[in-house]
Amino acid sequence: MKFDTIIIGGGLSGLICGIYLSRQGQRCAIISSGQSALHFSSGSFDLLNSLPDGTKVSKPLEAIQELAQQAPTHPYTKLGTDKFKELAGRAEDFLKDIGISTQGSYRENHYRVTPMGTLKPTWLTLKNLLTSDNEKRLPVHNPSIFNVTGFLDFYTQFIADEFQKIGTKCSIHSINFPDLEHLRKNPTEMRSVNIARVFDKQENMEELARILKAESKDSDAIILPAITGLNRDQMVEYLQKETNKPVYLLPTLPPSVPGIRTQQRLRSVFQQNGGVYMLGDTVSHAERKGNRISRIYSVNHGDIPFIGQNVVIATGSYFSQGLIATSDQVYEPIFNLDVTFASDREQWYNSDAFAAQPYQTFGIKTDKDFRGIQKGEILENLYATGAILEGFNPLKEGSGAGVSILSAMYIAEQILSK
Ligand SMILES: Cc1cc2nc3c(=O)[nH]c(=O)nc-3n(C[C@H](O)[C@H](O)[C@H](O)COP(=O)(O)OP(=O)(O)OC[C@H]3O[C@@H](n4cnc5c(N)ncnc54)[C@H](O)[C@@H]3O)c2cc1C
Repeated sequence: MKFDTIIIGGGLSGLICGIYLSRQGQRCAIISSGQSALHFSSGSFDLLNSLPDGTKVSKPLEAIQELAQQAPTHPYTKLGTDKFKELAGRAEDFLKDIGISTQGSYRENHYRVTPMGTLKPTWLTLKNLLTSDNEKRLPVHNPSIFNVTGFLDFYTQFIADEFQKIGTKCSIHSINFPDLEHLRKNPTEMRSVNIARVFDKQENMEELARILKAESKDSDAIILPAITGLNRDQMVEYLQKETNKPVYLLPTLPPSVPGIRTQQRLRSVFQQNGGVYMLGDTVSHAERKGNRISRIYSVNHGDIPFIGQNVVIATGSYFSQGLIATSDQVYEPIFNLDVTFASDREQWYNSDAFAAQPYQTFGIKTDKDFRGIQKGEILENLYATGAILEGFNPLKEGSGAGVSILSAMYIAEQILSK
């Protein structure tokens, strides 16, 4: 099977790269073994919230030079300030263009609400989720917070307590109706995605609007867990119109309905542009000719090779098994690319569980154009993007989605410019 570019991994990074390339006429395939980190997403994309030494960042662009001093192999350091700025700006337009509406700007972080009701800085937040431009206040004063009776992945009381600390007083309400009662018979079925399917039905949406309107009389806004709009557009807009009040969503514990919706949207745009998306197949190994990857093999296709002018590895970090940690090493399982990790295992962890964990910064080595390196040699047609890269700590810095999106756009540019 021949393609211009073969992308291994269909998460945020692989999909953004694939959409970029296929929109420019490249014939691309994405091979992806499973679901991605987007299924666990907060509904916000982080760019840079703090430097490795812990200094808080509110304007990411202004911090890139200092970041380069502290983290010389960081993906943003490889891009440099000008490219970082250009790509971050273009990413915002790109997401809008492909139908993913967000709020926020790379010029200054805003605040998102966590499932526990605290505020955290971020870059872009999917539309309809509650955000604030200030850490110490919310744009609502006395909202009604609703939850579905028996839904355990959304803690209304914790959220109300946190909101109270910054001057927002909430009333708490519970929703129930027959289709939800059916789910509740088995507690493992009471998950965000299943509930969202119930709300996808028009009659249930109408009933929900009726309940919200009746119970939120004295409030200035309505807050719901993000359990609507899995397969339907304009749900929040519909509820706002029916209740005549602003309606906001808050993220729940995973699985994440806004994250899954984003994944579905990216995949469908990729396919609309002619991309071939193979879910449920795992790339096992590859052949090399000179300093190029010549053939790729997957579990489902056995001896039939995938042949591409370019190959992109976007297989994520430990979570998605793009990196594997054993008792004495961290390795990349497809190409056995060179990986940065501490040889002394004691140095992988910090005993303070809340401190930055060194293993988070382990990842594959690349040159400045994000080309993979095997036994010290740069592979000319193998590009790496996203969570698999070395030199950054997505959790501690708050840079996960930013690295995935910006590195994907950058390598797509490199491939197209060849
Ligand atoms: C649980 C979790 C939650 C996160 N939440 C956020 C958030 O809210 N905001 C944020 O900014 N960042 C978040 N991050 C950081 C996250 O890493 C990035 O935001 C980004 O989504 C990573 O995208 P990716 O495409 O690089 O990797 P992934 O999303 O991990 O995707 C990698 C894909 O590669 C596939 N794959 C792996 N090996 C193979 C193989 N051999 N063959 C074929 N396919 C393979 C996997 O099945 C997976 O689909 C989160 C990370 C995790 C782990």
